[in-house]
Amino acid sequence: MATLDSRVISIVGDKTAKVLEEQLSITTVDDLLRHYPRRYVVRGELTEFSSLQEGEEATIFAMVESTKVRRIPGRKGAIVETIVTDGKAKLTLTFFNQAWREKDLRAGRQGLFSGKVGIFKGKRQLSHPDYLLIPEGDDVDQAIGDFAGRYLPVYPATSKLPSWKVAQCVRLALAAVEKVDEYLPSELLRELNYPDFLQALREVHEPSSAESAELAKHRLTFDEALLMQLFLALRRIEIRAVTTKQRSPRDNGILAAFDKRLPFELTAGQKNVWQEIVQDLSSNHPMYRLLQGDVGSGKTIIALRAMLSVVDSGGQAALLAPTEVLATQHYQNFRKLLGELAESGMLGGSINGTQIGLLTGSLSAAEKKELRGAIASGNVGIVVGTHALLSEGVEFHDLGLVVVDEQHRFGVEQRDALRSRASQPPHVLVMTATPIPRTVAMTIFGDLEVSTLKELPLGRSPISTHVVAAVAKPQHLTRAWQRVVEEAKQGHQIYIVAPRISANDDSDLQRFGLSAQELALARSLSDDDEKSNPLPMASVEELFPLLSDGPLRELRIGVLHGRLKTEEKERVMQEFVAGTLDVLLSTTVIEVGVDVPNASMMVIMDADRFGVSQLHQLRGRVGRGTTPGLCLLVTNSAEQSPAMERLLAVAATTDGFELSRLDLEQRREGDVLGSAQSGVRSHLRLLRVIRDEELIVKAREIAERLTADDPELSKLPHLRAEVDKLRQEERAAYLEKH
Ligand code: ADP
Ligand code: MG
Repeated sequence: MATLDSRVISIVGDKTAKVLEEQLSITTVDDLLRHYPRRYVVRGELTEFSSLQEGEEATIFAMVESTKVRRIPGRKGAIVETIVTDGKAKLTLTFFNQAWREKDLRAGRQGLFSGKVGIFKGKRQLSHPDYLLIPEGDDVDQAIGDFAGRYLPVYPATSKLPSWKVAQCVRLALAAVEKVDEYLPSELLRELNYPDFLQALREVHEPSSAESAELAKHRLTFDEALLMQLFLALRRIEIRAVTTKQRSPRDNGILAAFDKRLPFELTAGQKNVWQEIVQDLSSNHPMYRLLQGDVGSGKTIIALRAMLSVVDSGGQAALLAPTEVLATQHYQNFRKLLGELAESGMLGGSINGTQIGLLTGSLSAAEKKELRGAIASGNVGIVVGTHALLSEGVEFHDLGLVVVDEQHRFGVEQRDALRSRASQPPHVLVMTATPIPRTVAMTIFGDLEVSTLKELPLGRSPISTHVVAAVAKPQHLTRAWQRVVEEAKQGHQIYIVAPRISANDDSDLQRFGLSAQELALARSLSDDDEKSNPLPMASVEELFPLLSDGPLRELRIGVLHGRLKTEEKERVMQEFVAGTLDVLLSTTVIEVGVDVPNASMMVIMDADRFGVSQLHQLRGRVGRGTTPGLCLLVTNSAEQSPAMERLLAVAATTDGFELSRLDLEQRREGDVLGSAQSGVRSHLRLLRVIRDEELIVKAREIAERLTADDPELSKLPHLRAEVDKLRQEERAAYLEKH
């Protein structure tokens, strides 16, 4: 008798086991039974062909309409051409040199057909087709098993492993497994009206009715949500057990002095968020808080105030930025905001003050050494740098707070590393301008508390966004360049953004500082659109001569991208900030944080190559001053293509939350979860964090309830074992990366 932990090889034999492993990474019975059907076809009900997508590996239930064999003139061999029908439309199957199939595929026979959907000479066809016919006559007894139920599962399959072969393996496994441990408490099963685990597995693979399949799937989806939420609940319990130093501001300290200098009042939203943060900082447990708010909502001021509180308490704070350009900007911004408060020990510096350090790769060895010394002695209260700051093992005198700008490049692993770093682990504040829908936050940042800034500070100007269809309406692009010139003539500045540095350079995306998952997204987006967008992508290096010798010849154009030397990047940025450049032609290095209030316009070339949230981030660079912002999304995408729809959606709203949701809906689940716990991620087969919002909320409540009076889950050993499996996978995934 097999258990879920048995290897499939003992059930399906070597050859099939090898294919299962190679094609679907299935090695255990558990893996196999958790390879769930994507959908079901109903025996005898023909599948509507109109639902088939070109390029998809499809499995359909269809009827043979005709089969004929054609000889190929002047050559050996023959082509078998079979036409199958769904009652309305037709589909062609073609086999080369397999004339014997003719007697198999007689008119009127029904069965499952599978292959990749393609179009050839205007006709739909299945290429590399495979099929399984409903048995007739003598075959009935031996093959009836394949069509035993009314609902035939359709599995995610590959051309080497058609859906019904997976079904056969699953059937063997279900027959071999006699008993599995139920891990959900029986009261919970009753409360939710769910079938038990084994029953759910049987029903999801071999449904007795559509309703019971649905219910089984519901339960298995809930299981995933619950295990994930339990995993996170146990993490939160562990985190709460960690103690550290309180870091409250002093009454007449640097924070108070800073507030006196500040030329504006905090908004109501900022005040609320501040309350949450200051409460965390004055607790004995480290803060793990995510501060989210649209670009320009005033997060940085709040983060700086938190850093000053820590300095007040005698500690140090570090701010980590994703790029050197951003780290430098933060540093300069902080110096400006703090003025004499950042010059302690210097002539004219305040006695209440501190020092700020900027640690980047461009410092000389001697400068680095000096700064490290000042950090180690505690003279430098605030250190700004890139994420490398932590991995490079800089010694702090007393690190009390780490602020991370832009969470999506900062994963759970880094948070864990910080947590375990010191006897007094630092408080952690993560800032993100990509608003995250609630359930995603619950899933990815289940160990973080979330604060949100909703309103923008007064005095920010609205941004209007328009799509420019460069191919369909070339005159609009001409007009766009005229508009750039006009804008510059009025003394404003303009960003022009292109998706790559140079032509045919795929690695550029990586150099922009995109994470692997963003890179995958960018690639998948461009793959989708290859057909509708046959023109090559614009690149900074190609655009520069075109624009500077063409429509923008009167303007001063600077070029910025990740491949330039640090000094060069800084020089160009400085010139743009100072207003000696009219136009900054760049890659997405300007995506986050760059603040030039005089910039009023942005032109994004090949805007369809960017994700929705990324476009939103980018355009947040304009309209930061008193002039209304204008953003033009230039694209070669065809009208009504998905890419065009996406751009129109970005143009239609400036609500970051709405766009973020839209963005996530379009990503594949793995991309949504991004740098989330990898063990947890691989465990999500059915659950979709956007779609299954309700289920996740319910699972979270139940997880809280179960752990409230039994924080170790010691009364529920089977459930605990499942959660532990997840933790082990998580740990293994973590070790693999380090
Ligand atoms: P974020 O970090 O969320 O993108 P910032 O903190 O950089 O936003 O703030 C954007 C701009 O708004 C900055 O120039 C900042 O000085 C200014 N600002 C922040 N808070 C306020 C406020 N309460 N009133 C007016 N201006 C503000
Ligand atoms: Mg910012």
